[in-house]
Amino acid sequence: MTTLVVDVAVNAPVRTLYSYRVPEALAESVQVGVRVQAPFGRRSIVGVVVRRYQGDGTDLKELKSCLDDVPLLDAELLRLLHWASDYYYYPLGQVIKNALPGGLMRAANRTAIVTEKQYRRINPEKFPEGKRQQQILAWIDEQGGAGATQIRTEFPSPTPVLKRLVEMGCLELCEKERLRDPFLFEPLPPDTALILNDSQRQSLEQMSERIGACRFQPFLLHGVTGSGKTEVYLRAVAECLKQGRQALILVPEISLTPQLVSRFRARFEPLGEQIATLHSGLSAGERYDAWRSIARHQVNIVIGARSAVFAPLPKPGLIIVDEEHDGSYKQGEGFRYHARDLALVRGQQQQCPVILGSATPSLATYYRCKQGSCTLLSLPERVHAGAMPTVELVDLRTEPLRGLLAEPLIEAIASVLEQRRQVLLLLNRRGFAPYLLCTDCGTSFHCPNCEITLTYHQRQRRLICHYCDYLDRVPELCPACRGERIVPQGAGTERLEEDLAELFPAARIARMDRDTTRTKGSHQRIVRGMMEDQVDILVGTQMIAKGHDFPNVALVGVLGTDSLLNLPDFRSAERSFSLLTQVAGRAGRAVGGGRVFIQTYHPEHFALTCAAAQDVEAFYQQELPFRQELGYPPCGHLVNLIFSGNNGDQVSNAATSLGRHLQSAAGDVEILGPSPCPLTRLRGKYRYQILLKSPARPPLRRLLAMIAGVTAELPRQVSIHIDIDPLDMF
Ligand code: ADP
Ligand code: ZN
Repeated sequence: MTTLVVDVAVNAPVRTLYSYRVPEALAESVQVGVRVQAPFGRRSIVGVVVRRYQGDGTDLKELKSCLDDVPLLDAELLRLLHWASDYYYYPLGQVIKNALPGGLMRAANRTAIVTEKQYRRINPEKFPEGKRQQQILAWIDEQGGAGATQIRTEFPSPTPVLKRLVEMGCLELCEKERLRDPFLFEPLPPDTALILNDSQRQSLEQMSERIGACRFQPFLLHGVTGSGKTEVYLRAVAECLKQGRQALILVPEISLTPQLVSRFRARFEPLGEQIATLHSGLSAGERYDAWRSIARHQVNIVIGARSAVFAPLPKPGLIIVDEEHDGSYKQGEGFRYHARDLALVRGQQQQCPVILGSATPSLATYYRCKQGSCTLLSLPERVHAGAMPTVELVDLRTEPLRGLLAEPLIEAIASVLEQRRQVLLLLNRRGFAPYLLCTDCGTSFHCPNCEITLTYHQRQRRLICHYCDYLDRVPELCPACRGERIVPQGAGTERLEEDLAELFPAARIARMDRDTTRTKGSHQRIVRGMMEDQVDILVGTQMIAKGHDFPNVALVGVLGTDSLLNLPDFRSAERSFSLLTQVAGRAGRAVGGGRVFIQTYHPEHFALTCAAAQDVEAFYQQELPFRQELGYPPCGHLVNLIFSGNNGDQVSNAATSLGRHLQSAAGDVEILGPSPCPLTRLRGKYRYQILLKSPARPPLRRLLAMIAGVTAELPRQVSIHIDIDPLDMF
């Protein structure tokens, strides 16, 4: 007997879809893209309907309930998710779980839809006498109904008037769904009218042509910070809206770039456009509401972090990936997707241009341009105060350190402070010192879960693991020799802060790193302190290199450069170059004439000399041949297989055995390992890896397909994670 059947992608680590019979009562509401609750073994599980058809339902279990009133995913988005599931070897149900706002695939019940009492105009022929009554009534009518809180933002103490209007039959109170709006009560910043300069105009023209044609085309918008990229984004989005399509803007971390959101609001809200944001700083309810308002076509502009690449825009006409080089676009665990790469796939599937913007494009994107599959557009100059900063490499072999700083940097700080301008100091390590050492017996202190030393945090008087957050007290005596001489080794941002306070007792010093920005609003407070000149020196990790525009910074100093360069990763030169170029770009933004000092023992390293010259092209021309020679991305493809488990021998055996299988079928694929991961123990798990390297993708995919067949033979206690296009090899 045929009946209504659906295929459901469930939230479980399984690669198959499950079919269910749809009971009569749910036939209407169960559409493709809604969440349902379904029996699964002896439990019940949440899944998303991905297919709906008439079929034989005899042996099938019945769905329990439907959890959404509108489909959360449309056919186009499902196509993207299918693609991602296939490409990243990750189960569709769990891909969907990552795409949807947090928690939706876990909770069995609906994420609460909130309602509020709304006043609505009725009986339009009835008019009140009072002036204030008329004003309020007209306003509510204009809004198409409004809640009491909203009315109160316009009219003080409106309650008696509202009550009267209800009695008179001009208003009625009804229950209406309210979408939680994180911008409610935030003032709208002013917009500035600008005339584009020549390079902005030329870039925009090329984009507009493609936006108008509704055709896929990747663009790299390459311009230093302050060259006017954001202005080009704003114009391109306006073009896209003109086509009746929606725009999606991805940023690395939205909480770090509130200025970007403000500028979009300032430009588009006065035109009646709503802007939705999607990021981890929102409450679960806010995210669910943002998602639904996008899915209902109520929003034309979406700004969000990584997972917003899955925002349910029905017809995107433009996708922008700002700071496309940023590593946070790649998810490091579980579903290890890269949002920039998926943005390109989405642009291709839905036929719209994709703009990748950066001052320091990734080598991958640069390579695409060279190969002709991406159009390079340049904004070569800063809009204001043209001059780029001068960068000096401080050779620590000849300039000894006084504490953490070399003399030339100390002098430069002193002179900048005298001019009442600001200093930025980058040290990409938080805490006071990377480890403690007993100088009597040489004991150092390690995390019991991870193979790494515990970082000493002086403020909290704690030893902390930066990988698993393990906490320990600082020992008074060495547990091995009872010695008392336990000394912090190396330097972190806390120590730098302390050194500076000694050197410049009058200076006002602030610190920006994960420790000082944990609480909501704390990051913004530091930014405001800088903007309002309440801070003379800002110390921080790579966070200070991102996004902000501090006009009064005249000097940037970089410490600990060599530990960046020496990370055991083939991308360490690219990352160092990018970070240094970005942070150097923070100097002298408004007035020009900024200075940058980079302290290093390797002043001849090309990543440093190129960053000093702010010469992106020169860097790529030296870096690319290395990659070519070794077959590393972007000149080859990588897959990392990570084995982990509680028992080290089991993990190593599993890796060895799978490695043997792979060797026998390798073909053109180079198989490196198995070898212990650089962090052999992490969060209590032992870890091994096998790196697959190939000039082309198809042979890699053939090998991966084989793995699925072999994993069944491995012990259950060992899990394998497949990382396609890995970014981080730790
Ligand atoms: P980016 O995004 O590359 O850092 P922005 O778009 O933020 O650059 O521009 C930097 C500053 O220059 C902003 O304050 C912006 O308002 C201003 N600006 C941008 N384009 C122009 C222009 N064509 N004329 C005048 N000011 C501009
Ligand atoms: Zn740890």
